[in-house]
Amino acid sequence: MISEDQSFTKISDEQWQAITHNDSSYDTLFIYAVKSTGIFCRPSCKSRHPNKVNVLIFKNAEQALTQGFRPCKRCKPEGLHLPDLDWVVQIADYIDDHYSQPLTLEVLADMCHGSPYHLQRTFKRIKNMTPVEYIQMVRIAHAKVQLNTSDKTIGEVGILVGLPNTPYFITLFKKKTGYTPLQYRKEYTYKSLVEVSDDGTK
Ligand SMILES: [Zn+2]
Repeated sequence: MISEDQSFTKISDEQWQAITHNDSSYDTLFIYAVKSTGIFCRPSCKSRHPNKVNVLIFKNAEQALTQGFRPCKRCKPEGLHLPDLDWVVQIADYIDDHYSQPLTLEVLADMCHGSPYHLQRTFKRIKNMTPVEYIQMVRIAHAKVQLNTSDKTIGEVGILVGLPNTPYFITLFKKKTGYTPLQYRKEYTYKSLVEVSDDGTK
């Protein structure tokens, strides 16, 4: 038996049915939050169905907000409107955490509960770059760190940063930095050696 003061409850079969059937007759009875995305929704929300183990049930939006969840951009539980700025932060956070995985506009829209079109426009307006440009920036930044600090091959570095197609990784890296990954690594190594020999006059 769950005590009264606990703000969320374990999901019942009936609630799970309501969520998977997008049953709007349950919208006034509960809202559900998803741990993996940090978003909460009405039962009727048309967003992709969550993994059941990640679902928390709340009596109302206020309780979910108190626990740090954010309202869904799409279904606006209890009429709560997620500010665009918060939404873009949510999307950028998702990219920062998942850059090594396949990411497309569709995947992002799916995870962050909006349409690809709306996501593209809103992100660009606030960040001054498209989501794809932001993904590329994050991946290249992580690739630089790997090239400078590890012995991994170019192909391995590409895989680590979500660019498993090596020729494409090399092309993109060169476009963004002016160097191929190998040139970038050599440049860095060369400079390090010069510094060492300058300091270490015997
Ligand atoms: Zn929703």
